[in-house]
Amino acid sequence: MRVHHLNCGTMCPLAGGAIGSGTGLRRGLMVCHCLLVETPRDGLVLIDTGWGTRECREPSILPGYFRRLTGPTLDVRETAHAQLAGLGFTPADVRHVVVTHLDLDHAGGLSDFPHATVHLHQRELDAATARATRAERSRYLTHQWAHGPRWSAVAERGDAWRGLPAVRKLPGLDADIGLVPLHGHTRGHSGVVVDASDRPLLHAGDAYFHHTELEPGRRAPFGLRAFQTLIQMDGLARHASQDALRRLHADHPDVTILSAHDPAELRA
Ligand SMILES: [Zn+2]
Repeated sequence: MRVHHLNCGTMCPLAGGAIGSGTGLRRGLMVCHCLLVETPRDGLVLIDTGWGTRECREPSILPGYFRRLTGPTLDVRETAHAQLAGLGFTPADVRHVVVTHLDLDHAGGLSDFPHATVHLHQRELDAATARATRAERSRYLTHQWAHGPRWSAVAERGDAWRGLPAVRKLPGLDADIGLVPLHGHTRGHSGVVVDASDRPLLHAGDAYFHHTELEPGRRAPFGLRAFQTLIQMDGLARHASQDALRRLHADHPDVTILSAHDPAELRA
């Protein structure tokens, strides 16, 4: 499998100094780190989608508070849809999309690939469908899946992979790509394993926000710690997910772990 690393949405949040990518109150930098995987028999698999064409053309469909806080550039050239041509592909080549969760900055591109099967954790689909709390009504934007994707949701049972439990290979795919529960940020938030034999990857989505969080005894910059606590759906589960990622990082240094929004990881 060949893996392309894409930024499908630059954001310039307030107070860059507090999030480790700027100084003082000046705006910082965040990315939407997505993966485009070329597989031998399953076509292209897109992992997370960042913003879609529609958000870039109609920014007002995003909540005003979100735009003020995170400063998304909403450049249509950054969408996965637009970047495919430069890589020699067409949108129809994307046959599968996997989302770590359905927050607005991860599900924006779903509508650009209406024919793709969308893989996710069953708990996440349930949470985004129910939108049971005020926080969930604000983070899940139903217009992003109003086209009626072909969902393929997997539940909690699965195999162990490098010490992580309940990893489920995606149904209907030949490629070794799987979902691993990393709940807490949202109820069904998951990581995505791409088990290419020589260089396995784990896309950990928003299970952590800054590369220092994987290092023993180190923490994220203050602003990112506060932000993660503010928007978590289950704090105990989120901390357990981060502990599991730190163990994986320590015990299996051959696995590349990446999060969705850290620009340093994308550069690396
Ligand atoms: Zn996010």
